[in-house]
Order: sequence, then structure tokens, then C-alpha cells
Amino acid sequence: MKLGASYFGNRTLKHVRTDMEKMVDDGCNQVVHTMSEHDILYHSQTMVDIVKVSREVGLEVFLDPWGIGRVFGGESFSTFVKLFPEARQKLSFAEGEIKVNKACINSKAFRDKMLEWVDHAASTGAEGVFWDEPHLFYGEFTELFAKTKIIWGCTCLTCKDIFKNSYGYDMPMEFTDDVMEFRQETILNFLEYLSDHSSSKGLKNAVCVFPISEPKYGVYQWDKLVQLNNIDIFGSDPYWFSYNESVSGFVEKVSREVVRLCERYNKEPQIWIQGFRVPEGREEEVSTAIKTAFDSGVRNIAAWCFEGGACMTYISSDRPEIVWSNISKEYKELHKRK
Ligand SMILES: [Zn+2]
Repeated sequence: MKLGASYFGNRTLKHVRTDMEKMVDDGCNQVVHTMSEHDILYHSQTMVDIVKVSREVGLEVFLDPWGIGRVFGGESFSTFVKLFPEARQKLSFAEGEIKVNKACINSKAFRDKMLEWVDHAASTGAEGVFWDEPHLFYGEFTELFAKTKIIWGCTCLTCKDIFKNSYGYDMPMEFTDDVMEFRQETILNFLEYLSDHSSSKGLKNAVCVFPISEPKYGVYQWDKLVQLNNIDIFGSDPYWFSYNESVSGFVEKVSREVVRLCERYNKEPQIWIQGFRVPEGREEEVSTAIKTAFDSGVRNIAAWCFEGGACMTYISSDRPEIVWSNISKEYKELHKRK
């Protein structure tokens, strides 16, 4: 049984140690540390020390490329998109060129950046890396066009070349079936590239997809991702508050699909529990979510994030201490049941 949480917001080693010890006391045996562009540049040795401290207290450690290039989940800025403006995603506007502050995952500059990130992750001594919600731009400007237009990325020259070589005609600006497939292939190819490299460095690979398998989210045929050679752990994050869904129905549906696919391809299923932005009075739902994931066959459960998001205004729960207390209580129960 693997139970844990993500951790960020603090780079002071003595406090990290105290928190890691607390995580163990609270029923965790794994932690996902975020490692952003900021961390790589300004905290490179600190990250090595943080991983070391976490392993010393008995936690398995995964590192998360938090917000790198703005194509993974994460509340973190990207310097890359400023330094490499040509490597940004270009949107599907026929009327003119709009590039967004998200890296094109087909661009060589960004892939080189990611290899550097993996190399640093390997040098820390972490057990694995966690690819969280890799995505392309979709639809976030739709409101400006009276909902008549779907805007998506990426339509840069590199992507256009790859599209034409694959499909034999010029990339359309509409969101066609071929475009959907191309975008999915782009993400799959990116993850295969990264996971092959990290695996060669001795790291395990965990990946988390958005909980709704629609083309706009990129990967809509999850089985294609699960079966990549070097993906060891496959999961999703059915954040019921964020998607305005009912806790047990949503968590069960997503968990069962993750378990089904992992059983078919002999991978380890993982489910993320929403422990951030939990509204006051609904903290009990976090316990329900953990129980539901377990009852659906998941034995690798992680909460986003440590202590209910108390360290960050943007994602904090209304009463983070109650959220974390519920998570801890459920984790301790699950350890008894395994
Ligand atoms: Zn591109």
C-alpha cells in the first residue's frame, strides 16, 4: 500500500524534515515533491537535500516538473517561455499569430530543457518522476469569440511539419478528428520520450491524466498511454470539487477505469484525492474519496496536497487542518486493512 501527498511551498531544510516526519506519523509512506523551473535554477542542491531528508525518514520520493513550460499542472511561473519565445505553442487562429505562454512539447528547445530536468531529478536520488497533467492549450479564449470558435494548440511550424508528414496534407485550423488524434499522439510521444530517458536513469515513471477522457484534454484514449513501455504507474485525479461532481460517483468511476486499464497492462494504478480548495463543512467528502478509491481496488493513493493546501492562498481549503486530519485518519485505517 502506497499512501502519500504532494509537498511544496517550503525550501528550508529543517522545516522540511519536520514536515516529512509529520507525514510519516500521519500515515504517509510516499511524497511527491514539486521541482519547478525556479527550484532547478535557485534550489538545485536544496532539492537534493530535500529528497535525502525525505528518504531518511522512510518516504518514497517522486519529483514533479511543476508548471515547467506551463504544460504540466502547477502554480509556478515559467521562465522558459520568456527565454524561448519561438518554442511557445501557437494557437489555431487563421487571422494572425497568437502564441501563448505554454511551451510546444514538440520543440527541441523544450525537450532539451526537460531532459536536463530529468537528469537533475535522477541526481537527487529520488525513486521516480511524476508527470502531472501534461497538456496542450485548448479553448481558454473561446469566450472572446461568443463560443463560436474552438481555439487550440499547437500549430507552430514544427507541429505543422509533423502533421503533414503523418497525414499527407496541411494541418487544418479546425478541431477535426485528425487534429484530435495528432494532439493525442503529440502528448504520447512526449511522454514516451521523457519516460524512456528517465527510466534509463533508473527512475520510475508515474503519470496522471485529467479525469475526463475528452479530446480537448489531449489524451482521450487512456489505454494508449498506459501501455507505454516505461510508464510504471498510471493514474488520474478525480477532483470532484473542481469538476462539480459527486464525490463517490466520480471517484469510483475514474478509479475503476484506472484499475481496469492497469490490470490489463500490468501497471500500478494511482488515484489522487482532492485535498485542496475543500469548502467548509464538506471535509468528510475527502474521507469518502479515499475509501472509494480503496474499495475500487486502488492501493496507491495520494492527496494533493500536504495539510490541505494551507501554505498557498490560491488553493487552500477553507479549514485545511480538518482536511489533513481526515486524510491522516483514513490513511491510518487503510494501513490496518491492507
Ligand atoms: Zn508546436
